[in-house]
Amino acid sequence: MIREPLVFEISDRSKAPIRMPKLDVPAGADALRGAALRTDIPGFPQVTEPEVVRHFTRLSQTNYCVDIGFYPLGSCTMKYNPKVNERVAALPGFTRTHPEAPDDLVQGNLEILKAAEEALCAVTGMDAFTLHPAAGAHGELTGMMLIHAALKARGDARKTVLIPDSAHGTNPSSAHLCGYKVQEIKSNERGLIDLAGLEQAMTADVAALMVTNPNTLGVFEADICRIGEIVHAKGGFLYMDGANMNALTGIARPGDMTVDVLHVNLHKTFSTPHGGGGPGAGPVGVKKELIPFLPVPVVTRTQDGFVLDGDRPATIGRVRSFCGNFGVVLRALAYILTLGPDGLREVAQIAVLNANYIRKSLEGRYHLKYDAPTLHECVFSDKFQLARGVKNIDIAKRLIDYGLHPPTMSFPLIVHGALMIEPTETESRRDLDAFIEAMKMIAREAEESPNVLREAPHASYVRRLDETAAVKKPVLRWRPAE
Ligand SMILES: *Cc1c(COP(=O)(O)O)cnc(C)c1O
Repeated sequence: MIREPLVFEISDRSKAPIRMPKLDVPAGADALRGAALRTDIPGFPQVTEPEVVRHFTRLSQTNYCVDIGFYPLGSCTMKYNPKVNERVAALPGFTRTHPEAPDDLVQGNLEILKAAEEALCAVTGMDAFTLHPAAGAHGELTGMMLIHAALKARGDARKTVLIPDSAHGTNPSSAHLCGYKVQEIKSNERGLIDLAGLEQAMTADVAALMVTNPNTLGVFEADICRIGEIVHAKGGFLYMDGANMNALTGIARPGDMTVDVLHVNLHKTFSTPHGGGGPGAGPVGVKKELIPFLPVPVVTRTQDGFVLDGDRPATIGRVRSFCGNFGVVLRALAYILTLGPDGLREVAQIAVLNANYIRKSLEGRYHLKYDAPTLHECVFSDKFQLARGVKNIDIAKRLIDYGLHPPTMSFPLIVHGALMIEPTETESRRDLDAFIEAMKMIAREAEESPNVLREAPHASYVRRLDETAAVKKPVLRWRPAE
């Protein structure tokens, strides 16, 4: 592997990268009469056009992305994102809108926001949506704040939130940030919420149960309506983490399952490129009782068009500047409208079929702690390979040598040595088979040459990193040599 130098290392100050014709107007420094104008930026790299283009093109090829290949990162729903969404989001009428523009100049944009809210209501069965939260975790926090506000309005302060032990780490964090004490609910031997345990824990001090459905094992909480009844009977709210909506779209609606508050991840289910911290959106859907508390401003339809209504006495306030990540909402709406109800149903059907195809194909080679039929993802563990000293991280790193992105590791926490695989609907049979073949090869290597796995990856741009040092001592800045 050739190491790509830093742009600073290929810089050559003696080169004149661009030759400009002589100025026939006053030079910038004169025009700005500028003591403030810099004549030099210390350490600024100087490279020619082909050098800079090649440098960044080569760097772009050292990264893995969904446009290169299979990306089975469980829980993250790394699906291929149709390019038409990008074309729509890049239309100048959208990209050139100023976020402070008065309502009457951006009627089209407001109509889009309203249409996206209504589309999400139709898909999820909720009564209203706010598009403001910038990510799933932000949606969770917003949802908990809505529940907090509704309970306060009832004069019923409660202190506890129940969360199953299989939940995504953001769930307890969001509840905690909102000031709640988190109480864990144990999963039963099928990986589902234990109803007897829930009944016992569900007291008049519990504000909400946060449930993920299908849960992080990919298993559908079949007793969801009974769960909702138990929570409601004690005056609590049912919050659903809808990050796994990819298993449900067009087939089942959380709003029909006793759910009071729900977040969805537009950057997962509704096709927006994500990873690397790029923009996302975690809209929150609510039932009628919670509508008065929604964040402001609310897009409201009037006789003359649309207005942004900020005058709502019970609101929890603002959770995000402007109206959230508009470009992400645009992509999601383009995605929903191009697929339509039948297309969305097919998304869920194929996502579930693909996950089960992988589960069946690797059964016996990798350990399955919960052997229930799964929906959109399946969770194996390294239990068989551990006998040869091979851990989930070794399997994951070896996949990189086979040109594939590793699955999610060590989550959910209730599966020791977890390998969580979510293929999504956008992968072909050929791609799935290539992944399955690689996983089988790795299982064989674990038997025959475990050291190869323990030292993997061998063929990647960087070898195995010291992840602790990477977190504790990150090198984030290039400094010019003295
Ligand atoms: C991704 C995910 C979240 C958090 O969403 P972000 O958009 O990453 O903040 C929450 N719960 C589950 C189950 C998830 O998969």
